[in-house]
Amino acid sequence: MSESEQFIQYETDGRVAVITLDRPDARNAQHPPFLHQLDDTYRRAEADDEIRVILLKANGPHFSAGHDISPGGAAAFRDEIKDVPGIISQYGWEETNYLGLSRRWRDIPKPTIAAVHGKCIAGGLMLCWPCDLIVASEDAQFSDPVARMGIGGVEYHGHTWELGARKAKEMLFTGQFIDAQEAWRLGMVNHVVPREELEKSAMELAQKIAEMDPWALRMSKQAVNRTLDNMGQWTAMQAVFDMHHLGHAHSRLVHDGNAIAGQDVKSMKKGL
Ligand code: ZN
Repeated sequence: MSESEQFIQYETDGRVAVITLDRPDARNAQHPPFLHQLDDTYRRAEADDEIRVILLKANGPHFSAGHDISPGGAAAFRDEIKDVPGIISQYGWEETNYLGLSRRWRDIPKPTIAAVHGKCIAGGLMLCWPCDLIVASEDAQFSDPVARMGIGGVEYHGHTWELGARKAKEMLFTGQFIDAQEAWRLGMVNHVVPREELEKSAMELAQKIAEMDPWALRMSKQAVNRTLDNMGQWTAMQAVFDMHHLGHAHSRLVHDGNAIAGQDVKSMKKGL
């Protein structure tokens, strides 16, 4: 992979910025260059005063396969945590690159809309959940199977807030997919549309919102996010992140230093 390889595309349509996940061969699996390019692209849209709404979509058959756990994936880039004993370095790395980025994206002071198709797995949820609105195509499916790694869900605990307690538990206990209609019924997505209409529908929604005053949009977004935080969302997420690392630490102890319990891409797919 060259330094200049692009994993994220950026374009604008009037007052709407369109950010496209563009690592289709790897099903938009996320490694640090992918995540940092995505963050830089969000910042570009945030800094442009002409832009009022940000639309996130994906190229390829699936929205995102999650964090890249292939041999050349995320772990290969974590030079700073190699050969450091204990959990502290991995904790700090994930706090910055996983929980921290998703949290930052949740609070971008402009409305964000995710257009999700195909599979959205584990870390993929950490891309769509921080968005304000989600439009899903009929083929969209959502899952978090990381209990197989000895961990109670991905680093950004949106599960309980997005699905309600019982469905969140079922998602975590089974790792099975929730389809678009079920996600809509639970309130996790705003609209479900045919696959061929996804981009058009999400763009129509974005353009409609972009007609609103940007300050009013910012205040509306903040009203809801502040309410969630007053209900304890952020402190709960931080607490669950700590538990997530208790999970990693346990897996390291039981699985000869392997923080994800010896799982790989193939074993994570089994039975799903
Ligand atoms: Zn982790």
